[in-house]
Amino acid sequence: MDIKIQCCGIVLMLVMIYFYSRQKKVQLNTEKAFWRVFCVTLACISLDVISLYAIKYINVLPRILVSIICRAYLTSLVLVALCSLIYICLDVYKKRSEYRKVIFHWLYIAAPAAILIFVLPIHYQHKEGTVYYTYGPAVFVTYISAFVFLLATLWYSAKEKTKINQRRREAVVFWMVIWIGAAWVQFFFNQLLIVGYACAIGIMVVYLKLENPETNLDRKTGLFNHSALMQYLRQLYGKEENFSVLSLILKQPKMLQANNIDDIELELVSYLFRIPNVLLFKNSGDEIIIVFLNKGDAEKWITILDKRFYRGWGVDLTIFLQPDWIYIPDANVVSTAEDILYLMRYARENYKEMADKRMLSIDKEIVRQMRNEKEIEQMIMDAIEKNRVEVYYQPIYSTKEHQFTSAEALVRIRDSEGKMVPPGVFIDIAEQNGMILKLGEIVFEKVCRFLKGINTGQYGIHYIEVNLSVVQCAFEHLAETYINIMEKHKLSPKLINLEITESASLSAKKILLDNMKVLMDYGIRFSLDDFGTGQSNLNYIVDMPVDIVKFDRDMTRAYFENGRAKYVMDAAMHMIQGMKLKIVSEGIETEEQYKTMEALGISYIQGYYFSKPLPEKEFLEFLTLQNK
Ligand code: C2E
Ligand code: MG
Ligand code: MG
Repeated sequence: MDIKIQCCGIVLMLVMIYFYSRQKKVQLNTEKAFWRVFCVTLACISLDVISLYAIKYINVLPRILVSIICRAYLTSLVLVALCSLIYICLDVYKKRSEYRKVIFHWLYIAAPAAILIFVLPIHYQHKEGTVYYTYGPAVFVTYISAFVFLLATLWYSAKEKTKINQRRREAVVFWMVIWIGAAWVQFFFNQLLIVGYACAIGIMVVYLKLENPETNLDRKTGLFNHSALMQYLRQLYGKEENFSVLSLILKQPKMLQANNIDDIELELVSYLFRIPNVLLFKNSGDEIIIVFLNKGDAEKWITILDKRFYRGWGVDLTIFLQPDWIYIPDANVVSTAEDILYLMRYARENYKEMADKRMLSIDKEIVRQMRNEKEIEQMIMDAIEKNRVEVYYQPIYSTKEHQFTSAEALVRIRDSEGKMVPPGVFIDIAEQNGMILKLGEIVFEKVCRFLKGINTGQYGIHYIEVNLSVVQCAFEHLAETYINIMEKHKLSPKLINLEITESASLSAKKILLDNMKVLMDYGIRFSLDDFGTGQSNLNYIVDMPVDIVKFDRDMTRAYFENGRAKYVMDAAMHMIQGMKLKIVSEGIETEEQYKTMEALGISYIQGYYFSKPLPEKEFLEFLTLQNK
């Protein structure tokens, strides 16, 4: 009797079980399921060997004992197949209730199979010194039911492709294929008892490729990593558990050297390891996330940690770190792992001032605002995809030529119900997530197409002003992209005037100047928008090669309402006019305002006094009527 192959399988399984049991684990359901697979497979291969001996000594052992051992082995084979199916179902059914329902269905098939294996006849092949195996109806049922479970596992892997982690799918498919292959070989050459060993090899592949707990650890700190965090959070949401999350980022004092930072981080981490019944994760960046399963514990430990931070770190407790804390008392204010991380990032970006006051606790209001922002993001995306971006034109009156000689192109989008959404609602969000680049291109393309389609001379239009966001201005390929669009439409660059605003960062200013140079060489001119708001200062006009300065609506309003603002505007006006630049006064709403601006020598007037922004057709009708 040759049991070398089975013994190799047993040794392999024991080695893997030894390592696996000693590794630090996240308590994921997949880990538990995998552990089950390990144990059942080890039992199966061991029973395989025991059953061979039982058959060999069938003449000396009680018949009933041999029967029980062989049937136990057959049942364990079915169990291994069932465990592989359960393992893959964990990925497919994230909700605990759905998962349980499906597993119960499969158990309804497994239970009668096990009963049949124990009641149907079984025969033994035991030619002295050669081959030992079982056959008969009980074996037949074993093969059929194991095969059904294996096929079901493969079927799930193929059908629920998107739901199953790709690495898991590949590993499990490999495991199933070598297993079925081995069963096939053993079926035809029944002296080759390789099924158990093949199964152990398959499990080893899954272990190395996917279930090695080391891959869930952050090497430097020993905390669980981002991938483990996502899996764990998904599991908690799947189970509909209530939990609290504390995220902390350390603001390190500037003079701290790089190696000191690492030491301090390790000191903090070892302190955090003292917190009982929590899992600690190192998320991307320097963020440490603590998941508490009990809100009371969370609050108690936050107070303790807070006190600890006052005591300082390092050997002499002389290094003081300021944590940037975010605390989510009830994680079920959102319902997915992705959302909770998004929520923390959102809170950190938008409520920085509050986070500076040591800890920011996330309440329903912050969640509401985040949802609102997400909805707007979706709306912008839909508008871009479904061509619901529109451009309105607000006429600009020339006080010298006494007619409308230009207009400002202003973007609008329609929501799914067809309602018009003004830029005030979405521009900031589009700037934050970068969608403004695409949106800006669409607006520019539409303006070019519009200008190409009309006889501008006939309408008295010299050029159209198009807004550029600071994000677009800091985009290295802006000039190239805009020139390409103009080339495509064969549009004269003289018809375009781009509006820029002051950008805070120096690097952004440098890129903007490079972009401006290329575009100006091409023939496009520029205006400086929003002058007179917090975003502008006089130096900027000196630095920026613009032809026009646009006085913001706030500045115009202040001119009429605030005696001092008058002097500021007068001074600015003289300086700008001294530089031979033109001025557009925005937000002119009344005849009195218009007359005053005209008397001051302002070159262009824009405002509701003349017209609100208009859609293309109405804008052309307006020009036809007014520019006679
Ligand atoms: P802006 O470039 O300063 O545009 C002028 C804004 O003032 C427009 O608001 C216009 O409708 C409004 N306005 C003009 N005259 C009056 C008036 O007499 N009274 C009042 N109450 N408002 C007046 P809108 O269209 O809502 O645009 C707001 C801002 O959104 C724009 O300010 C601009 O910064 C941005 N924006 C609009 N379109 C675009 C675009 O295509 N790209 C980029 N990047 N930003 C845009
Ligand atoms: Mg503008
Ligand atoms: Mg403006």
